[in-house]
Amino acid sequence: MFRGSKKETPPQDLFTIDLEHGIIKRKADGVRVMALGSPGWATLQKELSSTFISGAAVILQRMGYSYGKYIGSVAKSRQKSPQETLETLHTFARDSGWGELVLNGGDLYSGQARLVLRECIFCLHIKEASEPVCHMLVGLVGGVADEVIGGTHRVIEEKCAAKGDKVCEILVERVG
Ligand SMILES: [Zn+2]
Repeated sequence: MFRGSKKETPPQDLFTIDLEHGIIKRKADGVRVMALGSPGWATLQKELSSTFISGAAVILQRMGYSYGKYIGSVAKSRQKSPQETLETLHTFARDSGWGELVLNGGDLYSGQARLVLRECIFCLHIKEASEPVCHMLVGLVGGVADEVIGGTHRVIEEKCAAKGDKVCEILVERVG
């Protein structure tokens, strides 16, 4: 099972940048992407929280879930098997600059897994939180799991760097 330990060299040159027109495209599939800086992301999160209080978590999780479903549908269209869901997530997280997402026990395909995100960008600028704050990440993982593996998954962030843990750790469980 994949634990992020196999050391193939990842591609170093993922994007083409057209500075004249402000267009960045991912080489692998020609998809246009945008860069979102981490301080800006942190501001967005904080403002959502102060406007919607606990509703912010729902909004961010839903954003992540929708995007995760999209990632999952792309993976499926490329005929990745459900067993490869974690590789898909790992690669997408890596290539998107979210951090290094690895399995830390269990097996996504068999219904329960613990994932760790090292160098998490989602909570990079949030310190001394009392609760985990990576709601976008939680939604992302749930969306990918639901789409690729099927069924419904419950995802809980159990550790979060924003509240002083070394890494962000999430528990994924298939329900129903
Ligand atoms: Zn976190």
